[in-house]
Amino acid sequence: MSKNVVSIIVIVFVGLLAWFLPQSEAKASPQTPCAVHQTVNCPFCHPQLIQTMGLCKEHDNIPEAQCVLCRPELKRAYQQEKDWCAEHSVPESQCTTCLLHGQNH
Ligand SMILES: [Zn+2]
Ligand SMILES: [Zn+2]
Ligand SMILES: [Zn+2]
Repeated sequence: MSKNVVSIIVIVFVGLLAWFLPQSEAKASPQTPCAVHQTVNCPFCHPQLIQTMGLCKEHDNIPEAQCVLCRPELKRAYQQEKDWCAEHSVPESQCTTCLLHGQNH
């Protein structure tokens, strides 16, 4: 009887592992929209993308992963992070107009 109980526990445990593992893998991949910002390749949830995606030569060599001009879908994520200049429609941290004029938001 006790042998059966042990094998049931093992089956349940292995079953739980199999259920959990693919989930955590999916969470770690930048190719899946992140839970926080619903954004694929999210630079906030996957900061390593700033390195791996390189720089955007078209737009002042800012990291490609953070370039809103190339990736308009990032606007919502920036707004969520409270890093958005509504006046100039760029992230506050990348707003050269505000930075040049020394404005403090
Ligand atoms: Zn995110
Ligand atoms: Zn760009
Ligand atoms: Zn601005």
